[in-house]
Amino acid sequence: MSYCRFAATAPAHQEFHATEHGFPIRGESALFERLVLEISQAGLSWDIILKRRHGMAAAFDHYDVAKIAAYDEDARARLLTDARIIRNRLKIAAIIYNAAQIMAMRDSHGGFAAWLDAHHPQNLADWVKIFRKNFRFTGGEIVHEFLMGVGYLPDAHDADCPIAAQVLRCNPPWQTPWQTPRQIPR
Ligand SMILES: [Zn+2]
Repeated sequence: MSYCRFAATAPAHQEFHATEHGFPIRGESALFERLVLEISQAGLSWDIILKRRHGMAAAFDHYDVAKIAAYDEDARARLLTDARIIRNRLKIAAIIYNAAQIMAMRDSHGGFAAWLDAHHPQNLADWVKIFRKNFRFTGGEIVHEFLMGVGYLPDAHDADCPIAAQVLRCNPPWQTPWQTPRQIPR
């Protein structure tokens, strides 16, 4: 069943489906949250993740990338005992590592969104290679769901889903697969 059909029957998913899934976002913390949610979800259900979303945001300093990149051993140890998040050592380590990588993207490209723009457009297989080179815990499914969810790859919604037209009106990057001057890295 597609996510659109599933969300119609699952109250906990209706708001996310109708207001976030597939809609383009550019804010660093907003993008990083979605990457963290996808990484956290691996092997689990999206249902578990959405229910914990609020607590996860609090546990991860509301996705302040600079703060997460600076987490020390004590912070890692605390996270491993924090029931608000998915307590998986590899996932937590990847989230901290990925935050540091995004800090580097501030210098190299002007930020996470600008880094994504610099590599767009790209087919999924090449996106996965690029993500694997730069991030940890970013396999094919995670990269696909993340990029589809924030508008860099199409098909977040079924063609007959009423939200599909709303997403189109927000000009997701997948709809305009060329680079504007703004998007060329310095
Ligand atoms: Zn839909």
